[in-house]
Amino acid sequence: DPQDLWRKDKDHFIHPFTDFSVFHDQGCDLITDSEGIYVTDSHGNRFIDGIAGLWCVNVGHGRAEIGAAMAEQATRMAYFSTFNNLSNAPAAELAAKLAELAPAHLNHVFYSCGGSAANDATVRLVHYYFNRLGKPTKKRILSRKNAYHGTTYLAASLTGIESNNWDFDTLDHLVTHLSEANCYRRPEGVSEAEYCDRLVEELEETIGRLGADNIAAFIAEPIMGAGGVLMAPKGYHARMQAVCRAHDILYIADEVVTGFGRLGHFFASDAVFDTQPDIINVAKGLSSGYAPLGATLLSDELYEVLSTPQGPGGVLSTGFTYSGHPVSCAAALKNIEIIEREAICANVREVGPYLESQLKTLAHHATIGDIRGSHFMLCIENVADKTTRELLPVEARVGDRVAFEAQQRGLIIRPVGHLNIVSPPLIWDRAVVDRVVAILDRAFTAATASLEA
Ligand code: PLP
Repeated sequence: DPQDLWRKDKDHFIHPFTDFSVFHDQGCDLITDSEGIYVTDSHGNRFIDGIAGLWCVNVGHGRAEIGAAMAEQATRMAYFSTFNNLSNAPAAELAAKLAELAPAHLNHVFYSCGGSAANDATVRLVHYYFNRLGKPTKKRILSRKNAYHGTTYLAASLTGIESNNWDFDTLDHLVTHLSEANCYRRPEGVSEAEYCDRLVEELEETIGRLGADNIAAFIAEPIMGAGGVLMAPKGYHARMQAVCRAHDILYIADEVVTGFGRLGHFFASDAVFDTQPDIINVAKGLSSGYAPLGATLLSDELYEVLSTPQGPGGVLSTGFTYSGHPVSCAAALKNIEIIEREAICANVREVGPYLESQLKTLAHHATIGDIRGSHFMLCIENVADKTTRELLPVEARVGDRVAFEAQQRGLIIRPVGHLNIVSPPLIWDRAVVDRVVAILDRAFTAATASLEA
């Protein structure tokens, strides 16, 4: 009974990242069923999923074989600790599979329960590593404004989206934020190459100011996701990594969104951005959201230090009850098998540029200032003025308006302030892209009309 469920939800379920004033007015949308690229609500309305759940359902919905793999594992052995020499088959198989897929030097996997926890655990692993090396002052992590790295206290401190931390303290003794890398909003009259130089100079200057002895790592999403699918200038990541390496600063790639096919490869760091991170963090597409799972992929060099017996007191005292959870790992193994068997990365490489080019046909709409991103990770930025890039007032809720009009027409996309994010399951084909772009065309027309009304 949807009415009964709505009441229970309203009275008892505290939703994450939620504006309760809007939410309580509108009630909730109960998503009850899903299949392939579609989700269905309790009224029987079917929508094209344009956000892959939340950047995660990479292989699409309703994969019975993932459900079967999870059920089999849950029935056989749902859970046991993985401390010390205890292990389980899916966790060991998945670690080996990740080592095979990842860049050659990343052969060691530390499991967590999601992206925030993976980033949090990574900082502890990095601190442990430098302590073991006799460099205990190397603690500070460099992150970037508008980065999103999660919502546990440490991951939220790494996050650089200001509004995320308005009501919270941050661990400022551990984190320094550099500028975002955002080609669309780079300073007026500055070329992309000059912009890149400036960002690299800022890193060098920051290292000079704080001292390399006090900096453990730099963390970056290859493309900033929740911050607005922000595109860095060409060559940025490789240059930032080179500076880090020269100063004994580890380079951590947060591939929670970009990993597992969204940019056409299992990992974007090496294939797309020409970097060789010391650590890559993954979650979301790792299990396509069928079960909570995150992982930190560590280099051989780091692992050698972490795993050298230290004698009493040298225990690696970090981890979770659910590190290497057998059911989540079984889901991830089947998910990866599907990505490989159905050549899903190749689909993204083929359909992604088409999606990008078709979205760009919408550029004539009055509010659209920028359409950017890559492959299946795209964003439309709405503005008041296309030339000055000035924003509409927050109260205009332009992102919400567009998302609402799209949903009325059978498509779910994500509003983030003045932005609309499109990050679909990786199984969209060209015909789906055509339908989606036709819906968006009408949605932008309607949203613009409602703004003018
Ligand atoms: N890192 C990135 C790049 C993300 O986009 C997210 C979530 O959106 C996270 C980390 C946090 O992951 P989780 O929500 O699974 O904790």
